[in-house]
Parts: sequence; C-alpha cells; structure tokens
Amino acid sequence: MVTHLPNVRYLTGLQATAGLVLVGADRSTLVVDFRYDAAARTLLGSFPDRPFDICLVENTYDETLARLLVSDAVRRIGVEASSMTVGRFNRLAGLVHQSTLIPTERVVERHRAVKDIGELETIREAARRLSAVARGVAEFVVEGRTELEIAADIDAALRAGGFERPAFETIVASGENSALPHARPSGRRLARGEGVVLDFGGVYDGYCVDLTRTLRVGAVPAGLSRLHAAVREAHAAAIAAVKPGARPSEIDGAARNVLTRHGLAEAFGHGTGHGLGLEVHEDPRISRLPGALPDEPVACGMVFTIEPGAYVVGLGGVRIEDDVLVVEDGCEVLTDVPIDLL
Ligand code: ZN
Ligand code: ZN
Repeated sequence: MVTHLPNVRYLTGLQATAGLVLVGADRSTLVVDFRYDAAARTLLGSFPDRPFDICLVENTYDETLARLLVSDAVRRIGVEASSMTVGRFNRLAGLVHQSTLIPTERVVERHRAVKDIGELETIREAARRLSAVARGVAEFVVEGRTELEIAADIDAALRAGGFERPAFETIVASGENSALPHARPSGRRLARGEGVVLDFGGVYDGYCVDLTRTLRVGAVPAGLSRLHAAVREAHAAAIAAVKPGARPSEIDGAARNVLTRHGLAEAFGHGTGHGLGLEVHEDPRISRLPGALPDEPVACGMVFTIEPGAYVVGLGGVRIEDDVLVVEDGCEVLTDVPIDLL
C-alpha cells in the first residue's frame, strides 16, 4: 500500500493531494477520490498497456481500502512506515482484521534514488534554469536591503525562470545570521563587510534542484575569506570523491577531512549532501551519521547535492552547494555557477 504522495506520483504519474496505490503481485490499483477521477483516467489512457486499474473512493479512503483488501483476501499488506500515521495504521488494522499490516521502509524510495533517462532530462533542464537564476542573484545583494527583500527577489526570479515554486523556503542569512546553517530570512539589513549565504531551489516539472552560494557586501575580514577558501576546497574534494561504488560516508569524509585540516571540524555540523528528485531531501543521504540508513554505495544515475559549510559564531558562515549526477567515471556537476563570489 503506497500512501506517500511522491511515491504515488513516481509509480503512476498522478499529481494529487490525496490518493494511494495498492501494488499487487499481478495487478495494481490506483485509488482516488472524485476530485482526481478524470485526471487518473486521462493518465491511464496515456499508457497503452494499462499498468493499473482505477478505483474510486466511496465514503472514505480507509473504508474503500478495506473493501478492496477484504474482497481480494490479502493476508499480508506492506505499509509505508515513514509516512503512515499511527492513527491511520490503527484504524486500518481494525478494518482489515483478517490481514496483517507490515511496516516497510524505502521500498519505492530505493528505486527513486536512481533516475531514469526521462527524469535526468528534467533534472538537467532544472539545473540549467537554476544556474541561470543564480548567476543573477548578486545584483540583489546590496548594502541596506533586508534578508526578506532579497529572499522575495530570489523567489520571483525562480518563478520568472520557469519554476513551479521554490523547492523550500529560500534562505538568506547575512552577517551573524550566516553562522546559523538554517537561518530564516529576517528584517535584518545587510551591512558592509558581511558575508551572505543564499540557499535556494526550485521545482521544475515536479523535480527539485538546490544551490547555495556565499556572497559578500564589500570587502570582508580575512577570517571570512579564509573560511570561504576552506569550504571551497572541501566542496572540490567531495566532488572528486563521487564515483560509482563510493560510500556516502567516504564522500562526506572527503569534505570533512579538508575542514578538519583547517581546524574547522567543529564548524561543520551537518551532512555533506542529500538526494534530489520528486522531493528536495531524499535518498541517498551523503553523511557520516549512521542514522537509520545503511551506508550503501552510490550508483550511476543518482543525483544529490554536495554542500559542505563552516559556521563560526562571531565571524559568520559559508556554504557552497552544487548538484551532481553520478556517471561511469565519476560525476557530472549539473549546476554551473561561479564560486569565487566572496
Ligand atoms: Zn540548499
Ligand atoms: Zn541542499
């Protein structure tokens, strides 16, 4: 039972705010309510081999599901543990008491991590468009303007650049705020001699791209320039470490070793990157943290960010982020924006 909406879209193409797929051994059923009935039928008509059936919800999703599962006498039903609420799990368990609900993890996500040719075409185009937006952001960064004004300009540029929407809340972090990796834009005004972290992304035909550059307002203290040089070196080292078969912890380690050498081990408190696709944070996670995910080697066709950073209270922060695609002999950097802006 696939209930996570990005997975529903991945399997069927349906873009909806509700809906689920029952994937059986012989056939699959897309369950939608009346709002998406017409869209689902049009979609199904576009596949010559009709890979799934459509079932329209009567009353509630859960009652409809129970009816389908009971009539098929399904004994074991896998559910997506990371997206199903405890409330829904208990409700369904009561409705289909002749069957067992089995929590599963990453069944569809594992497939989504490796992009197919059509997805790569979309992501390449998205990365080209994001790079074009990024090349224009320097003109927004002017002394006296607020972080919120700059964030609004970036969001407008994303829409003008053909994106459906920003992929996440745009980050503009200036001066002391830049020492916080996920600062939210505020009414703070940019002053001379400060660095500004700009982290923004867009959704293009459903797919997310994500980029960070650190800019400056006028000349900055030597300490901040050194921080930028160290992060830039870490970013290059991580990109050089990306190849089929490399483990996420090795790619992360390549960036982390550089920063440690510069005495910045403590200043880099997050992972080196995250997968990009229908979601802005998806598999693979490029991190040293053991977490819930195994350290599975990366493979051709995976797309993820490389985004080391260093954050020093009293000095500021620097992050540099690009999007890469794993290819046969290493990786291809999909975003193309100058780095030497600080
Ligand atoms: Zn980002
Ligand atoms: Zn990111």
